[in-house]
Amino acid sequence: MKRIINITTNEHPYSLELLPDLKHTLESYGFAVPDNFSTDAELIICIGGDGSFLNTLHKHNFPKMQLVGINTGHLGFFQEIHPHEIEEFIHAYLRGDFFVQKIRPLQATVHDNDGVSTLMGLNEIVIKSDKSRTVHLNINVNGNFIEKFSGDGLIVSTPSGSTAYNYSAGGSIVDPSLNLIQVTPLAPINTTAYRSFTSSIVLPETSVIEITPEDKFESSLLLVSDGIEFRCPEIQKISVSTSDTTVRLLRLRNYEFWSKVKEKFL
Ligand code: NAD
Repeated sequence: MKRIINITTNEHPYSLELLPDLKHTLESYGFAVPDNFSTDAELIICIGGDGSFLNTLHKHNFPKMQLVGINTGHLGFFQEIHPHEIEEFIHAYLRGDFFVQKIRPLQATVHDNDGVSTLMGLNEIVIKSDKSRTVHLNINVNGNFIEKFSGDGLIVSTPSGSTAYNYSAGGSIVDPSLNLIQVTPLAPINTTAYRSFTSSIVLPETSVIEITPEDKFESSLLLVSDGIEFRCPEIQKISVSTSDTTVRLLRLRNYEFWSKVKEKFL
């Protein structure tokens, strides 16, 4: 039986140009590349930038199979392969010359008037007002009250999401070998009327962060997981924790996180 590889791509002309070549090259090495996403595949190759990689995960419900990205965007944090390295990558893949970076996404359980729903985020889950108003959120960690936050909102981020929205909002860059959850405030209000932490809070990955909107204020919130928006009217409670799911991201042997960080930010 042929080994199956799925390819996903964004709609960028350069990505669409690469697609038939990649398919042809993989087939010449004996792989089957189905036209429609196969759940029997051993690998997903995602052509695009970080956004396309995140979209692939969400569209296919955080699949268990390994993934690798071919970068046709700017500097991709998830995207490992340059388009000119495709053949080299296939050789390395066939030799088993790679390692798998395991990433645990966040999971948010949302209790609202419609019942309970769940969403996942590999980078982060953002909680903010759906009407550009100040949000007032009570934050509990493992059942202990931490603060009543007032401001634009909160970013709850994974270590691999720490270099994304979290970093732009003043959060810390986290080495991917550390297992933690970072809660970063968005424009926190710190006055005599409202008191909020102005820096990130860093918690163990086993933490359960419970966020409840203050009763006397509006409880309609916008939740954004990896850039995907969910408008939730009348939220009672949001519980964020590390998910049981593991994303298996394939990395070449010479992958080094901090080189990528330096390349992007310095
Ligand atoms: P997008 O796909 O255009 O991505 C926005 C930028 O974030 C791109 O440059 C992308 O390479 C970068 N990015 C994504 N994940 C990253 C990571 N883990 N480390 C470093 N850079 C990363 O935007 P989108 O589809 O709307 O959302 C995808 C991501 O964009 C979100 O998960 C969020 O982290 C990020 N974002 C950032 C800001 C900001 O920095 N102010 C605002 C909104 C969203």
